Amino acid sequence: MPARRIDLHTHSTASDGTTPPAELMREARDAGLDVVALTDHDTTGGHDEALAGLPAGLTLVRGTELSCDSGGISLHLLAYLFDPAEPAFAAVRAELRASRVGRAETMARRLEAAGTGVTWQRVQELAGGTVGRPHVAQALVEAGCVASVGEAFAPEWIGTGGRFWAPKAEVGVVDAVRLVVGAGGVAVFAHPSASKRGRTVDDSVIEEMAEAGLAGLEVDHVDHDEAARAHLRDVAAALGLFTTGSSDYHGTNKTVRLGENLTPEASYEAVVERATGLEVVTG
Ligand code: AMP
Ligand code: ZN
Ligand code: FE
Ligand code: FE
Repeated sequence: MPARRIDLHTHSTASDGTTPPAELMREARDAGLDVVALTDHDTTGGHDEALAGLPAGLTLVRGTELSCDSGGISLHLLAYLFDPAEPAFAAVRAELRASRVGRAETMARRLEAAGTGVTWQRVQELAGGTVGRPHVAQALVEAGCVASVGEAFAPEWIGTGGRFWAPKAEVGVVDAVRLVVGAGGVAVFAHPSASKRGRTVDDSVIEEMAEAGLAGLEVDHVDHDEAARAHLRDVAAALGLFTTGSSDYHGTNKTVRLGENLTPEASYEAVVERATGLEVVTG
């Protein structure tokens, strides 16, 4: 049997992707995937729609991508197959989402006051679930301030620390790992070396996360060059972590394609084996 095509990181309109969850499942099958994880930011809001639209032969791994912090550095933690009803973790996701609304409003109102044509009203209309900077960026494109969503992430707009940027609440990354594990889930550090998004953490943070129950590192990711991948593979081997690869698909908000990076079969099997919160579902 040929190796399955496994993509463990995608976003839908439940956060800042541009494809509704059920449609994303069809796109995933059309892209030749056998397994796809839906990992919208700080939410499980797309899971039911994705399940309802699951095409025959495609396996769905339900997950999320959590907004985390380590010593002032923003980082992302992928969480798979946790129990969405487990109260401690559910409460943290709700807090993170609530904070995102306040900070998006701050950014939008500043842009509005600056006469850009962006309005908070429009940003809210563009966000169907968890609101994020890509929705503000879309409003900036519509207003003719920038030519693409990517351009809005410049310092003069809403890039991290930029003129119109506002911070959002984040959960300490070691606590986040414990919350995921406590809800029966499997924690994987998302794009640990994506340096073009901002500062990245030292390997010592990965060690602390591993002690708290981190299971894997996302190594094959569009924002990692070959040197970063090689280094992360060494770190994973030293700490007994598995490695994953994934597209981090965001529809038309980014240029990556579904399945652009893939996860080895053994790592996927380790995710399924460790999880006690939910099971994978095959259409
Ligand atoms: P937020 O979580 O609201 O702070 O927004 C961060 C999200 O914006 C990330 O998850 C990416 O999807 C997106 N993003 C970050 N940097 C860029 C960029 N340079 N171009 C396009 N999208 C980006
Ligand atoms: Zn995103
Ligand atoms: Fe991310
Ligand atoms: Fe992501």
